[in-house]
Amino acid sequence: MKAEIISVGTEILLGDIVNTNAQYLAEELANIGIDVYYQITVGDNEERLYDTFNECLTRSDIVIATGGLGPTDDDITKEVACKCFGQELKLHEPSLKKIEDYFKKINMSLSENNKKQAYFPKESIILENNYGTAPGAILKKDNKIIIVLPGPPREMKPMFEEKVKPYLKNNSNSVLVSKVLRTFGIGESLLEESIIDIIKEQNNPTIAPYAKDSEAILRITAKASTQKEAEALINPVVEKIRSRVGNYIYGEDDTSLEEEVAKMLVEKNLTISVAESCTGGLVSSSLINYPGISSAFMEGCVTYSNEAKMKRLGVKKETLDKYGAVSEQTAKEMAEGIAKQFSTNIGLSTTGIAGPEGGSVEKPVGLVYIGIYINGKTFVKRFIFNGNRQMVRLRSTKNILNELRI
Ligand code: ATP
Ligand code: MG
Repeated sequence: MKAEIISVGTEILLGDIVNTNAQYLAEELANIGIDVYYQITVGDNEERLYDTFNECLTRSDIVIATGGLGPTDDDITKEVACKCFGQELKLHEPSLKKIEDYFKKINMSLSENNKKQAYFPKESIILENNYGTAPGAILKKDNKIIIVLPGPPREMKPMFEEKVKPYLKNNSNSVLVSKVLRTFGIGESLLEESIIDIIKEQNNPTIAPYAKDSEAILRITAKASTQKEAEALINPVVEKIRSRVGNYIYGEDDTSLEEEVAKMLVEKNLTISVAESCTGGLVSSSLINYPGISSAFMEGCVTYSNEAKMKRLGVKKETLDKYGAVSEQTAKEMAEGIAKQFSTNIGLSTTGIAGPEGGSVEKPVGLVYIGIYINGKTFVKRFIFNGNRQMVRLRSTKNILNELRI
């Protein structure tokens, strides 16, 4: 099904307000498999609105118009839509009653103008507005549909979500199904490069790479007449991508790196303790975000000062004097120290220079060591991260979690 969006209102045309309605509707329609071919903005002008509706109806099956359902004389959207379909507006008593009640509730008197919001053609489906006065409507003629919705986004959005979306889904002959592959440890451009031939060789499903929170994500979207058919199109492509970059994929759809790692710890009956310097509790907090973690997570310590590193973790004074707090040796002793204290299978540590100050030539801002003690062995990894303080801390956290995954 093809759709077009008409945004009605001179204030949009003049740039007084940003057209968020069209953006919202376009995204929502795409999500339910309806192609949006055009978005048009028209002022509150009867003749131009009439021409626009007619033009849209010659090209598309569905026209959704927002705005111009108010009580004033320049609110003409519903009237013009009815004129296009040759349908007559009649008073709809239940809608009038609702509008009267609404005004009573807010202690205001109903003007004659407000009554015009209760007029609809008898062939239409009336969309109640629980967030304001103007009801919307679905008008149908032959196999063309016009949907009119109020302009204010806080009225339009819930009405679309609650009433229009289910209606369109029922009437749609296609579904859009997406699968999300989440990767870590490979940049968006390298990921795209690794599978560029797969991306280029098909258009159903489409494969869209994007980056979010230091992760590269692939969205694979197929359109078909049933969910099953769409999945059958997606699955072989997912397999192909997995065979190329499977090592980097940590999960599918609605998940996160922290959730996958926490789940793995619980499933494998591993216990963990964490000693953090530059991440200041982020690693512990990420793991504890997962509700089932209590059987695995024993202790998290923020050992920011040298004293804390010595006192709590048993890091040696000589190590700190000789190599500094941000060093491979300190990270190693921190990880081993915390694991020993709590007799856990795994001990994690982070120590680094998150910035913005404090860097030197040998130890620049962004330098981070992560230490992992696991079942008797310790390894330390050195990173230099870009970005501000928060980014350095976030990247340190994600990288240490990722090390546990692999
Ligand atoms: P009302 O009963 O409030 O007059 P209406 O259905 O007649 O509702 P409009 O008069 O066209 O709607 O718009 C009312 C307000 O809704 C606008 O002033 C604006 O704040 C918001 N609005 C309208 N259209 C849009 C849009 N496309 N994007 C974002 N906001 C919008
Ligand atoms: Mg208005």
